[in-house]
Amino acid sequence: MKNVVLLGCTGSIGASTLKVAGDLPDRVRLLGLAAGNNVELLLEQTRQHRPEAISISDPEKARTLRDALGTSTEVYAGPEGLLRLATLPAADIVLVAIVGTAGLHPALAAIRAGKDIAVASKEILVMAGEIVMREAEKNGVRVLAVDSEHSAIFQCLDGKPAASVRRLWLTASGGPFRTTPKAEFASITVERALKHPSWVMGRKITIDSATLFNKGLEMIEARWLFGLDIGRVGVIVHPQSVVHSMVEFVDGSILAQLSTPDMCLPIQYALTYPDRVPSERVQTRLPQIGSLTFEEPDPERFPALNLARHAAQVGGTLPAVFNAANEIAVDIFCNRQIRFDQIPDVVAQVMRQHTPQPHPTLDQILAADAWAREAALRHRAP
Ligand code: NDP
Repeated sequence: MKNVVLLGCTGSIGASTLKVAGDLPDRVRLLGLAAGNNVELLLEQTRQHRPEAISISDPEKARTLRDALGTSTEVYAGPEGLLRLATLPAADIVLVAIVGTAGLHPALAAIRAGKDIAVASKEILVMAGEIVMREAEKNGVRVLAVDSEHSAIFQCLDGKPAASVRRLWLTASGGPFRTTPKAEFASITVERALKHPSWVMGRKITIDSATLFNKGLEMIEARWLFGLDIGRVGVIVHPQSVVHSMVEFVDGSILAQLSTPDMCLPIQYALTYPDRVPSERVQTRLPQIGSLTFEEPDPERFPALNLARHAAQVGGTLPAVFNAANEIAVDIFCNRQIRFDQIPDVVAQVMRQHTPQPHPTLDQILAADAWAREAALRHRAP
């Protein structure tokens, strides 16, 4: 039985994690649940799963929850609430699935309290991969991947050292604009960008999948999770999203992990690791899928990949700037203040304006993040 704290329980990853917990009542106990604003759903989830403690961003909403739940559940609020949950004494593992940077401090607090962490929130490793991995090693805890691509690589590596790897291959579906000509990119609407061909996800990651910034963030994550330089992290477009990623070993052998796309699988693997636990939820019928195809990504239409590679090569505070500028660019695109094709332009310009600091502290990373957000905002149309 694993005692799990779930930060971001009301989102898309949160919903899949609750399904996994429902499937495996003898293996997974939800000890803590944290939400941002969705008080109704958090209340419903709390009544169903009876966690020891919960947390919500707004203290006013925390009062509403206390009134509704009585003394059966501890209710915390705000950033302090996330820290309380992440360090609950009985917790074995903290799954961080909060969109944005709010998961960074709780993830580090969990590691320092000796908890394993399962990382869905890409920002954590992109911004502070060096610090997170160093702290995890120091405290003897695991950093487990929830992203399907990194889970696939983790499963294929199966403990093999970095020296046995020639290259990691992250697969990308290519998003909804895989075959769209560059000339059309300027007229892509928010509504079109929010329709992903193979995954149902939160809003920000869906836009990131359309620009391939999501894959760029994953490249940087992979670099830290698996301790390889970015030159050994490749991307290949695979529209069927059945091969979740691959490892090419030094002898030329390539191992891949396959399944129909369903986030429950990598979540279950992270929560039950090192065991493999039976589940009927994910069924993969290869004859129905028929063929699996692979293509080179097009750097002209999707500059995010080269921007990510550059950010990872330079390192220091630049990946945090890459991430923050993109977050704002997505926001102002969704508010119709820039065009779809301007998202990478904004990020590239902000990256050019930044003077990266090597081996930054957490405060320097957060300062670079705040600076990049302001710098990116200056690009929105009046
Ligand atoms: P969603 O937008 O669906 O959910 C985000 C969650 O974060 C919600 O529960 C939200 O709460 C919560 N939240 C936001 N701010 C705070 C805060 N300050 N304190 C506590 N909770 C907060 O996102 P996804 O589930 O899609 O993604 C979550 C993370 O996982 C992202 O970083 C994403 O990149 C990553 N990821 C997602 C995948 C997917 O398939 N969806 C796949 C791989 C990675 P509320 O709704 O109550 O406001």
